[in-house]
Amino acid sequence: IRRNPGEPEFHQAVHEVAESVVPYVIQHPAYREAGILERMTEPDRTIMFRVVWEDDAGNIRVNRGYRVQFNNAIGPYKGGLRFHPSVNLSILKFLGFEQTFKNSLTTLPIGAGKGGSDFDPKGKSDREVMRFCQAFMTELVHYIGPNIDVPAGDIGVGAREISFLFGQYKRMAREFTGVLTGKGLEYGGSLVRKEATGYGAAFFLEAMLHHRGEQLEGKTCVLSGSGNVALHCAEKLRQLGGTVVTLSDSAGFVYDKDGIDEEKLEYIKVLKGERRGRIADYAERYGCEYHAGKAPWGVACDVAFPCATQNELDQQDARDLVANGCRAVVEGANMPTTVEGIKVLTGNGVLYAPGKAANAGGVAVSGLEMTQNSMRLAWSAEELEGRLKAIMQDIHGKCVEYGSGDEQVDYVKGANVAGFRKVADAMLAYGAV
Ligand code: NDP
Repeated sequence: IRRNPGEPEFHQAVHEVAESVVPYVIQHPAYREAGILERMTEPDRTIMFRVVWEDDAGNIRVNRGYRVQFNNAIGPYKGGLRFHPSVNLSILKFLGFEQTFKNSLTTLPIGAGKGGSDFDPKGKSDREVMRFCQAFMTELVHYIGPNIDVPAGDIGVGAREISFLFGQYKRMAREFTGVLTGKGLEYGGSLVRKEATGYGAAFFLEAMLHHRGEQLEGKTCVLSGSGNVALHCAEKLRQLGGTVVTLSDSAGFVYDKDGIDEEKLEYIKVLKGERRGRIADYAERYGCEYHAGKAPWGVACDVAFPCATQNELDQQDARDLVANGCRAVVEGANMPTTVEGIKVLTGNGVLYAPGKAANAGGVAVSGLEMTQNSMRLAWSAEELEGRLKAIMQDIHGKCVEYGSGDEQVDYVKGANVAGFRKVADAMLAYGAV
């Protein structure tokens, strides 16, 4: 705490990992003697910079840009860029730290990083977003590269922002390389990338249920968010026979007890994507319930998928879920459940899949985008979805291997220990660096 004052989200993430990894380290003195966990909690480096851009009215605006290069023991730094007014060093350090374990779990050779800015793309014109992205990349270009650090999207950074960022990188570096993932298909992007995080979370639930001898078919699912992760998760859950009854945004949630089908999902994709509208419009159009200023955790369900943001599901929300019959919580977002919330869930026998395992599908297909860029070829959607599903099953298998106890699988312990081992062994091999 003395070394990292004012970083509550970072402390929360480290604490959660330490709880399961410290007992493992105690059993394996080589890790302890080499100070591996202490080294893993300190980023390799943190870059912070000024971003100056001009708005449409001709005013000069100043934001702060960040890139936290957390750990490159097993591959180039890799992790998203987030543009949101809440972005600060604590949030990016927590995300970069989590990314270390997540990327390790994917089985791919990718290290961990995270970055972004307190810039808010909401309410900005396309040209303002372009000027901001160009200004941001004008500095970031010095620190990234296809074998150094390969950023991707996250909250507030979608296809539009990645295109502006990539265009500016290409112009400044005078080279065409796969330095960002989530690119457009015309210039090195991968099929199934935009679907990957949401699809992967649905595949992870399927694996958890199969492990217990249950099927996904017929399960009622409650989701938060209506962005990239939530919408694609809803799409795959439907395809696998689940019924999705809620979606939300930062203003409230919709409850559609008939289920959100394909046609309705297409409507939301346009509403929240191209039109950058509010989820409340969905309730008006389809005549279902809208709850302003609330999250959907009070709705009865078999499975809950928090897919919006960190700490969006607290102790009381967890109690509501338990009381309403929820039997599994699968995190599409990063660290959406508070520490107290997790205790309530696991203490009541709810299967709990942490984001670092359940939402690793996005970075996994980003890793596959890097592979395709290096080989200068493009795989088909079927090939990629098959690889994604296999990776999610593999991650599930590792969680079972390292997280099996007396009763049900401890997915937190399984994901943390399995993710830790690979990075720790590489760091041990390098000696004290
Ligand atoms: P998007 O920007 O596409 O969507 C975010 C959604 O969450 C929107 O519906 C947004 O509502 C809502 N939201 C954002 N902030 C808040 C808040 N403070 N309170 C309530 N709702 C909020 O982001 P993604 O779908 O890409 O990311 C969602 C989560 O998944 C994040 O935690 C991200 O780190 C994680 N993740 C994303 C991956 C990816 O591939 N995209 C990969 C792995 C994890 P509104 O429209 O009102 O802003």
